[in-house]
Amino acid sequence: MPLDFAPARATAHANIALAKYWGKSDLVHNLPAVPSISLTLEELTTETEVCFEPGRQHDDFVLDGRPATRKELQRAVALLDRVRCAARIDHRARVTSHNRFPTAAGLASSASGFAALAAAATRAAGHDVDRTALSALARRSSASAARSIYGGFVELCAGVPGADELAARQIAPPTHWDVRLVVAFTAAGPKSVSSTEAMERSRSTSPFYDAWIEAAPGWSETVKRAIHDRDLEALGVAMEQSTLAFHCCAITSQPSTLYWGPATISALHTVTALRADGVPVWSTMDAGPHVKALCEAEHAPRVRDALTHTPGVLRVLVSTPGSGVEVSP
Ligand code: ADP
Repeated sequence: MPLDFAPARATAHANIALAKYWGKSDLVHNLPAVPSISLTLEELTTETEVCFEPGRQHDDFVLDGRPATRKELQRAVALLDRVRCAARIDHRARVTSHNRFPTAAGLASSASGFAALAAAATRAAGHDVDRTALSALARRSSASAARSIYGGFVELCAGVPGADELAARQIAPPTHWDVRLVVAFTAAGPKSVSSTEAMERSRSTSPFYDAWIEAAPGWSETVKRAIHDRDLEALGVAMEQSTLAFHCCAITSQPSTLYWGPATISALHTVTALRADGVPVWSTMDAGPHVKALCEAEHAPRVRDALTHTPGVLRVLVSTPGSGVEVSP
């Protein structure tokens, strides 16, 4: 086998949007309709290996130890096709990936998954590119994956329809601010509606979608400034509004996408009660039922304990600011 087609491995981490991404301005190029800002999370990891094999008939994708579903395979093949086209090869690939946290459950497996796949596939094809190009490649599969290429605090601007080069950029390294994201798992198994489908439902049917598009850039600006100033309260208030506003679009779409279960609401109340008790902590959620609480490191044990004792919460994980994608050999 030529050296260029040795297997390559990549590790990427999921991220949590502090200013939320919801809705696309261009479905074909997968461009976000609003700017978003995220924190990469060290403890939520995907490991992916890719090998392009001469003579192989089809791409083969094993995810979390089982054959990928048709839809999962299609999305992975679309990324592999872009890499093959850029690298001018046509070998099919063998892909193995493990998410070290629940897949398709509202914890951003698509972000770490496509970031790791983009990095491993480009290296395996012998077509190394810089981080900006890697981020744009990952973004075409999942906009949030563009952000997981980088560590720490990361910005992805809104896309201009047709402008396919959009990539994320780091605005501060993981060491900038010693915050913690405390994740309260409120349900087991995958979520009922994928993010892609829920977003499209919101865009095409929610009466509040236009208001969301108008308000989201303001929250993003506030979050960016608050990260710069390490102002948790300013960040937290904007983050909670941004979260509730996009869920409002999802809930009011037709058919409604209500990701929340009883334990979601209990966990949100726990965060509010902690704050009333003097603990500086604010909540956020992805498109899914889990609640994530952002606080400074010193308050994380108290937040973890309170969420652990919240009715319906299955388990709690504390995550630190994480690094960007890493690839080997
Ligand atoms: P999540 O909240 O976990 O991001 P989504 O519905 O947004 O849920 O995305 C889940 C989809 O992302 C999966 O169905 C699959 O297509 C893709 N995905 C998840 N993990 C990986 C992975 N490790 N490698 C490639 N694709 C992945």
